[in-house]
Amino acid sequence: MLKRFFPALILLVCSCAVAEAAPLKALIITGQDRAHKWAETTPLLKRWLEETGLFSVDVLISPGYGGDFSKFNTEFSKYDVTVMNYGFGGDPWPQKVKKALDDYMKSGGGLVIYHAANNAFPKWKEYNEMIGLGGWGGRNEKDGPYIRWRDGKVVRDMTPGPGGSHGPQHEFVIEVRDAEHPITKGLPPKFMHSADELYNRLRGPAKNLTVLATAYSPKEKSGTGENEPILMTIKYGKGRVFHTAFGHGAKHLKSVAFIVTFQRGTEWAASGKVTQKVPADMPGADKPVLRK
Ligand code: ZN
Repeated sequence: MLKRFFPALILLVCSCAVAEAAPLKALIITGQDRAHKWAETTPLLKRWLEETGLFSVDVLISPGYGGDFSKFNTEFSKYDVTVMNYGFGGDPWPQKVKKALDDYMKSGGGLVIYHAANNAFPKWKEYNEMIGLGGWGGRNEKDGPYIRWRDGKVVRDMTPGPGGSHGPQHEFVIEVRDAEHPITKGLPPKFMHSADELYNRLRGPAKNLTVLATAYSPKEKSGTGENEPILMTIKYGKGRVFHTAFGHGAKHLKSVAFIVTFQRGTEWAASGKVTQKVPADMPGADKPVLRK
């Protein structure tokens, strides 16, 4: 008797769960970057999130350089996660918007720092704590340590020097350093990304920062000879930050190594968990895989 009713009961529970699973709401903020084509990368960021079936995505485009920011604002609390694609050399935001992002994060918001968003706002103290590590904009030892991965652990390196550099684009292997985090759990231990900028010498406050994955920066490619942090999480107040340091342009965002880690990291920043399965086209360490 019990056996006969059990499947029906399970079906009932499952359909309720699906009906209640409201999509996560994401906001991409973009509109300024003096070194990156944000108008080309933003549609791909939006597409990868929408393809998970988990997100509805809004895009907020800032005024252009030197523009009037008096009407630039958003209601962050409407969103489970904010994705930053506002980068190198971007104009500072008005104080009220800065405070709104800070309040949102301290009260448990989600934030994704994508590539050159870690170049933005070198003088905004709270933002630098949210991103953990940043580059360019005059960053140096006054901003915090370099984060090194040596002998299986994080080393905070206070050697003086500039923050942020990269050599010519090359393929690189991403190596998982924390395989128990929801973002990385179940991923191959090493997977190849297509030829891209590999940021090195990032530095910042690095408070409450967890290195999820690194990539080796070869000296012969103007690198450091170090394993550079490339996927990170930062705890900021009650908020969750996922920081992905690669993906310079639209073609780099078609690499499955980027897509999968971005989709999983954004779900985690939004909800604290990852429900996505690792796709069949996830690369291993031998060669990158690109989607159309
Ligand atoms: Zn770049």
